[in-house]
Amino acid sequence: MSQKAIVIGSGVAGLAAAARLAAQGHEVSVFEATENPGGKLNVIGNEQYRFDAGPSLFTLPHLVDQVFKDCGKNPRDYFNYTRKEVACHYFWEDGTQLKAHAEPKKFAIEVESKLGVAREKVEQYLEKSAYIYRYTEKVFLRKSLHRLKSYLSKDTLASIIRMPNLELNGSLHKLNKRKLKHPKLVQLFDRFATYNGSDPYQTPGVMSSIPHLEHNVGTFYPRGGMHQIAQSLYKLGQDLGVQYHFNAKVDRIEVKANKAKAVHCGAHRYEAEIVISNMDVVPSYRRLMPDLKAPEKTLQQERSSSALIFYWGIKKDFPELDLHNIFFSADYKEEFQQIFKENSMGDDPTIYLNISSKEGEGDAPENCENWFILINAPGNTGQDWDAIIPRVRAAVINKLSRILKTDIEALIEFEDYLDPRRIEERTSSFQGSLYGAGSNDTLSAFLRHPNFSRKVEGLYFCGGSVHPGGGIPLCLMGAEITANLIAVDYA
Ligand SMILES: Cc1cc2nc3c(=O)[nH]c(=O)nc-3n(C[C@H](O)[C@H](O)[C@H](O)COP(=O)(O)OP(=O)(O)OC[C@H]3O[C@@H](n4cnc5c(N)ncnc54)[C@H](O)[C@@H]3O)c2cc1C
Repeated sequence: MSQKAIVIGSGVAGLAAAARLAAQGHEVSVFEATENPGGKLNVIGNEQYRFDAGPSLFTLPHLVDQVFKDCGKNPRDYFNYTRKEVACHYFWEDGTQLKAHAEPKKFAIEVESKLGVAREKVEQYLEKSAYIYRYTEKVFLRKSLHRLKSYLSKDTLASIIRMPNLELNGSLHKLNKRKLKHPKLVQLFDRFATYNGSDPYQTPGVMSSIPHLEHNVGTFYPRGGMHQIAQSLYKLGQDLGVQYHFNAKVDRIEVKANKAKAVHCGAHRYEAEIVISNMDVVPSYRRLMPDLKAPEKTLQQERSSSALIFYWGIKKDFPELDLHNIFFSADYKEEFQQIFKENSMGDDPTIYLNISSKEGEGDAPENCENWFILINAPGNTGQDWDAIIPRVRAAVINKLSRILKTDIEALIEFEDYLDPRRIEERTSSFQGSLYGAGSNDTLSAFLRHPNFSRKVEGLYFCGGSVHPGGGIPLCLMGAEITANLIAVDYA
């Protein structure tokens, strides 16, 4: 039955949920606090340099396609992408470099020739990675874990039988050390913990499923940049009749007799039978429903890490660099200790450098490059960021200048930055975390806030801070779970 539905926020999950609900026949309105759609998927820059402000790595593009298909549209009319042959360029200070091919066999050969590790070891690791992904995806990622029906299926049974093989015990680092031994290869595979903002020395070995996405399935580049993911979903919603309100910050969700009734936006009240919050779940409770008893245990889960990002217009091109590049720190353990235990940042951070102008779409002037530099950082808990940022910036410049043998500072002709405070201010992400709740312990990795409210009828959630978690692919899976729950609840 058609209902009035309101989505609070136009992050990638909010946009996908809005389109899916409109396709179900509901009358959908989206209220977005800022002036444009996308949330963390946004753009920064000037006339010369364009930067994707947030996500830069695109995996599982079929999940974007699926939104269009499920809404009865051809994804190619809205959005397209290409697969990258090389997933990432890795650099170490001792001069070692490694091009990580997306094809597992090519990657294994490269590892063998550069690090001397038998190729079979890498191939076996990636096969196991695919196995773990296969048996965790259907059960832990594609369904609500909070409805009994999810547990009564063949898929769930198949995964439960395989639980002992899914590396749920022991840390990712321990597993990598045991299986790969070579310190550089261990560091390379430990890095995948950061794909959901966790610490490889704490997060469980089940996260060894993440490399499957990059090395078996592959990494992709959306035509027009990452922001096109949000823009195309926004256009899809428009075509399906979704009403968007920008600069429309929701102040309160009105709940009466345990039912969602309306949202309040300044002096205006908008009624709805269905309310979906795409705002981070912590401020959703604390700010929009302060009188409702909140699920404190869930809200107090440790958060995923945040980041410090520098956007630099660089007046030179570097043929040795590609779209994705990593410059590793000398002491990875110390780096994560600083982020997760000391709530700070050290002087030798691992640097992720993304250069979308390598894709030749005019994101930088000729012979210039748009450098997006991301350093993992702790969440904002009131640190002195004004002291931390220049210190880390100097460390990054020194490290890149050393490894690339060029004075980087002299090449910067455009500069902007994002830090945990700004991420929190601009998207309401609690503590500026990139991926909502953290995944450092096995339970919290899977037991996030449900996609619906147990207490309030008509109230639902989607986005990185709720099940199944953050990152574009999981946000899209979450939006589908939310829309499917609504389809059942309002059949
Ligand atoms: C720097 C950075 C790098 C990242 N890198 C990657 C990557 O490489 N690959 C990847 O897959 N993921 C990456 N991520 C994570 C990914 O961006 C997020 O998980 C995802 O985009 C979150 O989407 P969301 O639907 O949860 O909404 P969000 O993007 O969090 O958006 C929420 C929206 O709600 C709006 N809102 C909040 N409160 C209100 C209110 N009261 N009223 C109205 N509107 C409101 C906000 O303005 C915002 O637009 C990165 C994130 C960041 C910040």
